[in-house]
Amino acid sequence: MMAGFAAFALPFVTCMSSDLNLPQLEAVHHVQGPCLVLAGAGSGKTRVITHKIGHLIQLGLAPERIAAITFTNKAAAEMRERAKQLVGREAQKVVICTFHALGVRMLRQNGEALGLKNNFSILDTDDVTAILKDAGGSTDAATARQWQWAISLWKNQGLNAAMAEAQASNDNERITARIMARYEERLSAYQSVDFDDLIGLPLKLLQKHEDVRTQWQQQMGHVLVDEYQDTNATQYEVLKLLVGERARFTAVGDDDQSIYGWRGATLDNLQRLPQDFPALKVVKLEQNYRSTSAILQAANNVIGPNPKLFPKTLFSELGAGEPVRVIDADNEEHEAERLVDRIQSLRSGNDTGEGLSQFRAWKDFAVLYRANHQSRMLEKALRKAAIPYKVSGGQSFFDRAEIRDLCAWLRLWVNNDDDPAFLRCVTTPKRGIGHTTLQKLGEFANQYRISLFEAVFSHSLGAALPAKAVGSLQAFGNEINDLQFRARHTQGSEAALALLTEWLKDIDYEKHLYDNEESEKLAAARWTNVLDFIDWMAKRCGGEVDDAAGVSLVSESKSLLEVAQTIALLSTLSEREKDQDVVTLSTLHAAKGLEWPHVMMAGVNEGLLPFKPEEDGVSLQQDALNLTRIQEERRLMYVGITRAQRSLMVSWSRKRKKGREMVSALPSRFIAEMALNTATTKEDPRAKLRALRAEFAQRVEAEKGGV
Ligand code: ATP
Ligand code: MG
Repeated sequence: MMAGFAAFALPFVTCMSSDLNLPQLEAVHHVQGPCLVLAGAGSGKTRVITHKIGHLIQLGLAPERIAAITFTNKAAAEMRERAKQLVGREAQKVVICTFHALGVRMLRQNGEALGLKNNFSILDTDDVTAILKDAGGSTDAATARQWQWAISLWKNQGLNAAMAEAQASNDNERITARIMARYEERLSAYQSVDFDDLIGLPLKLLQKHEDVRTQWQQQMGHVLVDEYQDTNATQYEVLKLLVGERARFTAVGDDDQSIYGWRGATLDNLQRLPQDFPALKVVKLEQNYRSTSAILQAANNVIGPNPKLFPKTLFSELGAGEPVRVIDADNEEHEAERLVDRIQSLRSGNDTGEGLSQFRAWKDFAVLYRANHQSRMLEKALRKAAIPYKVSGGQSFFDRAEIRDLCAWLRLWVNNDDDPAFLRCVTTPKRGIGHTTLQKLGEFANQYRISLFEAVFSHSLGAALPAKAVGSLQAFGNEINDLQFRARHTQGSEAALALLTEWLKDIDYEKHLYDNEESEKLAAARWTNVLDFIDWMAKRCGGEVDDAAGVSLVSESKSLLEVAQTIALLSTLSEREKDQDVVTLSTLHAAKGLEWPHVMMAGVNEGLLPFKPEEDGVSLQQDALNLTRIQEERRLMYVGITRAQRSLMVSWSRKRKKGREMVSALPSRFIAEMALNTATTKEDPRAKLRALRAEFAQRVEAEKGGV
């Protein structure tokens, strides 16, 4: 027995302790009470979490009693993978997910206590905008989005409509609070929740229902939270109630990387932790394992001017490495070209310093920027140079409104009970079924605890709605039933394409696009996407595989309904991307927690980073606001710099497009704040030319050799 145990335990223990330094081990071994790991970028905080999962399992805690909360789904997938490598299959049972996904789990399990149906639906932002337009009586999407924004912030602060109205300081806020009340009514009638509810409602559950609270506190043996600095007030309350008196949790974070203040995240959560949990063990990590000293120095210099909430020091033993480079360009196009040159030059090995030759795959490169729109110019330059890339953090094809419209229809074919899909389809394109009808239908369905679709065919609906309304609803329901039947019996790409085309014609979707888009050009672009999409679906029915989309389905013929069913799995598309050998283009926000050997930050200009909203006035109050904003932007710069392992390049351009005009632009103040040694950082253009010549000569040689 003993020998068997030792044989199992030994490799595991060795692997764990040799991979962690002393303070990391200390954090991993503190399992009986609250623990906070507070440390700078790349110091192994996330690594502490994965290893602690392993340690807790090793101590005998059942994996399903461990919850690790990450900031994104992608981070959760990665953590699950790493935990699996450490502890094997057991890791599969650990609850590793975002706060939102944990919320879904809690609501599915106990939502009934709040009057929520088990198959409640989660609204995406488009659904929310549509409901708000309706609730506020506006057809303007921008106005609806402003309401959405304000309501979301209130919800994140734990306020409901009545509380928001009570604390409103002006008419605008009061009106928004009243719209919020109407919005909440609609959500409950539709048995739907929005993203913020996925945190707010579980909190309500834990606060108001003692039995549910006790059940969860008993279930949670240990809760671990990554990126703790970006949690909001509601998430903190959920955490506190989940862990209860025993307070067995581990939070890891870095106040210098708090970049979601604009979305309601608050550093108060870090400051309150030692007060709320006097037994809190605080561990600080000081060794950075990610970046060279040159990169780390630039990062430390940049963050220097920010007020210090928790003073930290960071050092690296990876050597000075390549100096951080700053590149200037005439305009954004030129800048993108220079970035591409740099990638090619590093790849060809002409420009590589010591120890860089092993990092030459496309996936070793990332180009980071402040705003989504900046990817466009970079994409063009990469395409021109035939460099494979992916855009993360921006809008993917499947996020486009028109594709989501179509997916809603497919969702409804597959699952008639998907209420938000029902709502989206019945109103997109419009078919004369109005809000009052839908609200009554929602109330009716709620009363009998059935889905909207079921309600449409209920015998007693006639008592709740006029015959004409019932007639239109049933016509819609029949249409869905008919489509569902035909999709089930449609096989092969040609037949599928015919059915999809006919369906789009029937619902007149093209006209819907042209009626609702501001310009014909935009409508045409959307329609092209739609045609692309149905083509892609149809191909799948013939069993053709499209690798470019990253989804490889088994090569056999499928019915259209079966293919529609896989649409729900499309969110895994982005998870598959990690295996691809492509350059990453990403916003700084979406790059949090990640690392690449070579990082390039593009558009490091005043106005872009720090970002300057157009409507800036100069009142005293705004000055104070500006200061906190600049500090958050500075943290964003810090996050960007610290993603780099071996080489970092920062670029800016002297002219930038603003609307339709070209305006002159300045380098970001953060470049000066990096305090680089200019003698070593500027690229020598002659060296560059030499490198290019060498590369060209090499290619010619290679081609000759090939003949
Ligand atoms: P961030 O603040 O950016 O989220 P982090 O503090 O979470 O960073 P990790 O991502 O956990 O840092 O670790 C950074 C890199 O250092 C990773 O590649 C990780 O594998 C490596 N690393 C962490 N700790 C050690 C260690 N003790 N020995 C060797 N490598 C380590
Ligand atoms: Mg991390």
